[in-house]
Amino acid sequence: MKTNLSTLSICLAIMASTTLTAQSAGIIDESSGVIEIERSQILIETVLTKEEQDALSPSAVLQSLREGNLRFITNDLTARDHSVQIRESAESQFPKAIVLSCVDSRVPVEDVFDKGIGDIFVARVAGNFINDDILGSMEFATKVAGAKLILVLGHENCGAIHAAIDGAELGHITKMLKNIKPAIKMSTVATGPRSSQNRLLVHEVSENNVRIAMEDIVKESSVLRTMVESGEIEVKGAVYDMDTGVVNFIE
Ligand SMILES: [Zn+2]
Repeated sequence: MKTNLSTLSICLAIMASTTLTAQSAGIIDESSGVIEIERSQILIETVLTKEEQDALSPSAVLQSLREGNLRFITNDLTARDHSVQIRESAESQFPKAIVLSCVDSRVPVEDVFDKGIGDIFVARVAGNFINDDILGSMEFATKVAGAKLILVLGHENCGAIHAAIDGAELGHITKMLKNIKPAIKMSTVATGPRSSQNRLLVHEVSENNVRIAMEDIVKESSVLRTMVESGEIEVKGAVYDMDTGVVNFIE
């Protein structure tokens, strides 16, 4: 039986907290689709501590995200005991990164990087652009809460990018999409029609939209700029591939 990643993740969470049996390690129940795992196979029962967070470098956090994505695309998500983690993280949090993502339901950020409770902050807005509220969230995540990395995560086949390219107008969406216009203007390499039907153009705009967000972070926030200059944090960008689940980092 083929179990998709969402089902796998849910089942692991359920089994980790409720119905583990010692004789059933890694067995998939054909009728229910439930994956039963042995308690000894639950790799993570704790949440990040301040000491662990302090010991991390931005590059180590980036590597952790890369390795998590590799586990995601190979169907090897870490089993976590969520019920224990919930209780452990109730009073405090020391996440290692903040990810700015689009709201798209097909980009489950924690799963994409195989992260769980207390691991990462996630800020989301359709089109993953920067505004004052997002910058405030990033300043909180890093300067106040100690996260070491800011990752702007765009994605292929983004409805917001498509709508912005096509000039869609509706309610508050009209104003929101103006935030993506600079990326469209910047995208002049792709040949062909300036419409969302042009996959090359959409790809180029998606990447440039991430680059603009990365630039805006250090341009518009003196708090974050100072932290980047001192090496306390790094700002990275990436685009999520819908077909493969691979996060392609922009170097
Ligand atoms: Zn999107």
